[in-house]
Amino acid sequence: MKQSQLFTKTQKETPTGEVSTNAQYLIRAGFVSKELAGAYAFLPLGLRVINKISNIIREEMDAVGGQELLMTALQEKETWEKTGRWSDEVVDNWFKTSLKNGNEVGLGFSHEEPLAKLMKSYISSYKDLPIYVYQIQTKFRNESRAKSGLMRGREFFMKDFYSFSRGKVEHEIFYEKMKDVYMKVFDRLGMKDKTYLTISSGGSFSKYSYEFQTVSDAGEDIIYIIDENNKVAINKDDFNQEVLADFGLDVKEKDLPTKKSIEVGDIYSLGHKYSKAFNLTYKDEEGKEELVYMGSYGMSPSRLMGAVVELNNDEKGMIWPKTVAPFDIHLIAIDGGDQSIVERAESLYEVLQKQGFEVLYDNRSEKTAGEKLNDADLIGIPLRIIISKKTLAEDSVEVKERKGGEAVLIKINDLNNYLEKNVQ
Ligand code: ATP
Ligand code: MG
Repeated sequence: MKQSQLFTKTQKETPTGEVSTNAQYLIRAGFVSKELAGAYAFLPLGLRVINKISNIIREEMDAVGGQELLMTALQEKETWEKTGRWSDEVVDNWFKTSLKNGNEVGLGFSHEEPLAKLMKSYISSYKDLPIYVYQIQTKFRNESRAKSGLMRGREFFMKDFYSFSRGKVEHEIFYEKMKDVYMKVFDRLGMKDKTYLTISSGGSFSKYSYEFQTVSDAGEDIIYIIDENNKVAINKDDFNQEVLADFGLDVKEKDLPTKKSIEVGDIYSLGHKYSKAFNLTYKDEEGKEELVYMGSYGMSPSRLMGAVVELNNDEKGMIWPKTVAPFDIHLIAIDGGDQSIVERAESLYEVLQKQGFEVLYDNRSEKTAGEKLNDADLIGIPLRIIISKKTLAEDSVEVKERKGGEAVLIKINDLNNYLEKNVQ
């Protein structure tokens, strides 16, 4: 994409009212625009990133047998009354509104109820199970605080995955597998090293659930690290002697290290809670009617985008991991109005694209070299290629990684080789 055609502009000033690094940089670089606290529009650069994150998640969910669907955001009251979760005392973050005929409806904050209801039409025999479905959908939550930028939206993207199994045994095998699947996603986002499988209270059905917590000062949670090697932690809210004893831990060690962290995902064993409410059953091999055993698995592409920025930035701006960067290469022409340089830059842009690289090409003639380089630092594309009079004098371009290191001169003829090694 030619940067002259990008309608968004970078801004120097920190946007007012934004306290989080992710929102400040994402707004300044033109990736997102704030509509209201906790609701952000995704602009072309930001949408490219969110789509890459979503596609990584999709690939991993598909690989484990997930079938993608899309539920409605509009939810009817009667469905949620079956489990008691329509009540504002039980769920404190509903957005509710009403139809013209006066019937109340809510905007979905999660989808266990409608999915249990929907599956009644498709599950009748043990032969129909297991079923794994997921969606990537906009969720609505009337959060009381929205100060963490993309990491706590009132309107945000969630990947919610639901498993429907024949019983506890079948469920637990899959549940264990999902722990690895989640870690694969975090690995691909470059955050595995800082992410801990975290013991958390289970909610109403199972005693424990698991969160995935990524250590960062920008996080809203606090975890106790109980096993650094295997990356296991306990959520501070759930830290007590009984939990420690349940996990065979030495009642560790009161002085365990604590860290601030971002909850980047969570997985729940739901048991029969929802299947019972909707009478979601199947006939087993003997023809006996059994309740379906459910699990749910959440993670948010938009919170993850915020988290990636929190983990990868410096004083100049963002530093995208290659896997989710809006473009592979930022090609910058420093031409000073010299048409011959412009032509060389244009042809390099064409060649790089033909080779399959995604390139943002800064062809803005009105900008100074300094302005272009500052913008490139802020936008944070992993690899920068500068083409200028100086580099062309050596038949070369200057290549530099955003994450640091020296700028190197590479002969234009050798560039393809270099890129094949350095850009995946
Ligand atoms: P939290 O404790 O952070 O409020 P939660 O446990 O209520 O999250 P879930 O209902 O389990 O969240 O949602 C699944 C996942 O969606 C969470 O693990 C988290 O990564 C993400 N998430 C939850 N709330 C938000 C939000 N307001 N904005 C962005 N992502 C969110
Ligand atoms: Mg949670």
